[in-house]
Parts: sequence; C-alpha cells; structure tokens
Amino acid sequence: MIDNKYIVIPIMTGTYKDATVTILNSTFQVKNESAKSYPAPDFGSWLVEQIYDVNKFLADARGFYVFFKKKFYCPSCSTQLDPGLRKPVETVYELKFRGFDPFTIKIVFPSVGCPKCGKVCGIDMNGSPGYDVSAAILQAFETEHIKP
Ligand SMILES: [Zn+2]
Repeated sequence: MIDNKYIVIPIMTGTYKDATVTILNSTFQVKNESAKSYPAPDFGSWLVEQIYDVNKFLADARGFYVFFKKKFYCPSCSTQLDPGLRKPVETVYELKFRGFDPFTIKIVFPSVGCPKCGKVCGIDMNGSPGYDVSAAILQAFETEHIKP
C-alpha cells in the first residue's frame, strides 16, 4: 500500500484464442470511482519486456514463414523443438514493478518442454509472435476497466 490513490486487484483473467492469462495481486492507480489506470504509463511496455525479453517466454522462431515450415528453438540452449508436441502449459512469473508490491502472472499457452534444458517454451504458430498472449492480458485489464 503506497497511498490511497492505488488499489491492489486480487485476481483478473483474460482469454484470447489459445492464450489464458491470470494476474494476481497487481497494483493499479484509481483515477475516480469508475476509472483505473496502469501504476505508471510505461507499465504495459515493461510487462511485455518482462515476459518476452527477460523471461523469454516464447521459443525462437526461424525460417521464412510463407515458403518454408517454420522451425522453433529453445531460447536458453538453442535446441530445436518439435511444435507437434505442444500442449497447453501454465507458466508462472513473479514480477515486481518498481516500488510496488510483487504480483503474479500465470500464462496458459501451447508450449513444449525443451528436451535438453527443460525450459518450457511457448510455441506461437501464427505470424505475429506473442499477439494472443498480449491480447489476453488486455482482456484481463478490460474486465477491471483498466486503461493505460
Ligand atoms: Zn533448452
């Protein structure tokens, strides 16, 4: 609790296509009785960076999308992954945004466990990697009427 302009939302969930995202105990700003916003304007870009860059949620996809079958590799050890083995897996991250209390994000997404290092790698088969997960996050925010 930083001051009374902030609120901790215990749980919110959003789903988009194959992605389901649950966010637990995250802090947001209260503007007035019906409007909430991110704890800071850059929270959205920070969250995306945490998921894809810091925690490397998605497998690396290589290859020309249109002409050849795309190949997927573990972002930790570069082992090739078999997208035919993907199944919905829940990945959980504990994140801390600046001076706010830590929160939890759970992402259920079609994934493959790396046969070499064991990292769970999300496999995004469509043309814009991460789109479904990002859309599910926005859906979760919308359930609580949170705007950037
Ligand atoms: Zn690996």
